[in-house]
Amino acid sequence: MIESLALLASSRVTTPLVPIQLPEFGVPIWCKLEYLNPSGSTKDRIARYILSKAVRSGVLVPGDAVVEASSGSTSIAFALASAQLGLQFTAIMPEGVSRERVTIIKAYGAKVELTPADDGIQGAIDRAKQLAAAQNAFWPSQFTNEDNAKAHRDETAGEVLCQIPTGKVDLFVSGVGTGGTLVGVTQGLLTAGCQVTPVLARPVSDKLISDIECCSFSKRIPGVADGLSDIFRNAGFTNLKEFEISDDEAIDVTRRLIQAGFPIGPSSGLNYLAAVRAYQEDGGQPVCLTVFPDRMERYFSTELFSRV
Ligand code: PMP
Repeated sequence: MIESLALLASSRVTTPLVPIQLPEFGVPIWCKLEYLNPSGSTKDRIARYILSKAVRSGVLVPGDAVVEASSGSTSIAFALASAQLGLQFTAIMPEGVSRERVTIIKAYGAKVELTPADDGIQGAIDRAKQLAAAQNAFWPSQFTNEDNAKAHRDETAGEVLCQIPTGKVDLFVSGVGTGGTLVGVTQGLLTAGCQVTPVLARPVSDKLISDIECCSFSKRIPGVADGLSDIFRNAGFTNLKEFEISDDEAIDVTRRLIQAGFPIGPSSGLNYLAAVRAYQEDGGQPVCLTVFPDRMERYFSTELFSRV
C-alpha cells in the first residue's frame, strides 16, 4: 500500500498559471490550467487528498469499495485514484452525462450506475449514500466533506502563491459545484495574507436539470450550479461578489479560448468571462485569478463542438 500511495502522490503535478488576455476584452486574467491534472480535471486534487488520507489512516485497504456521486469530473478523478490504489470504485451519475465521461470511468476498471435524469444530482447522491451503506463502501461525499475545500486550500492556493509574480491576488473567480474550489482557494490565499475577494461565476441557465437543496445545476455548463453550496455557506465569507453569465456567453467564450489554444470545457469559459467582468467592475488593475477546471475532450458529443 505504501507503494500505491507513492504512485498516487507521484501523479501530482503543479498546473501552469498563465495570464490570458483575449484582445476583445483587453484585460489580463491569471488562469490556473487545472485541465492539465492527470485525469483531466481539478478533481484529481480532492480524490488524491481524500483517498490517501483514508488509506494512511487504515480506513481503506486494497480491494475495498468506494462509491461517489457526481456529474462526471469527480467520478473520473476517483476512478483514476482508485485504480492507482487498488480500490473498487463505483460512480453514480445522473442519466444524460456525456458518453465520454462514462467511457473514461469504465476504462479505469470502475463501475458506472446511472440514476434517473429527473432526480438530478440529488438522486445520485441519495443512491450513493444507500449503496455505500449496503456494501459497507467508503463514500467521500464531496458535497459535505470539508477535505474537498482543504485540498484546494493546501494545494491549489499554495501553488498559486508560489507561481504568481505579483505575490498577491485581489479577486478569485470560480463557478460553484460543491464549492470546494472557491472556498479552498480563497481560504488558502487569505491565510497567506492576501486581501482576496471571492467572486462567484453564476450560470444563468435556460436548462437547469438537477436540484440539490441549495441550487440547480446547469445542463449546458456541466459541473456548476446557480447558487451557493453548503460548503460555501458554511465558510462564512461576507464579501462575496457575483457575476451572472448566460450559457450562450459561456459557450462562446469557451470556443474562443479553445481557438486561442486552451483545450477547456464550458465551465472554464464561464469562469473566464466572470473574471473579465470582475476585473472591469473593479476599475483599477486588480490581480484577478480564475481556474480552468477541465478538458474539452469530454465534451466532444455536446453542443460545444456542434459547429466543428
Ligand atoms: N467545473 C467542472 C467541470 C466541474 O465538474 C466542477 C465540479 N463539479 C466545477 C467546475 C466546480 O467545482 P467545485 O465542485 O469545486 O465547486
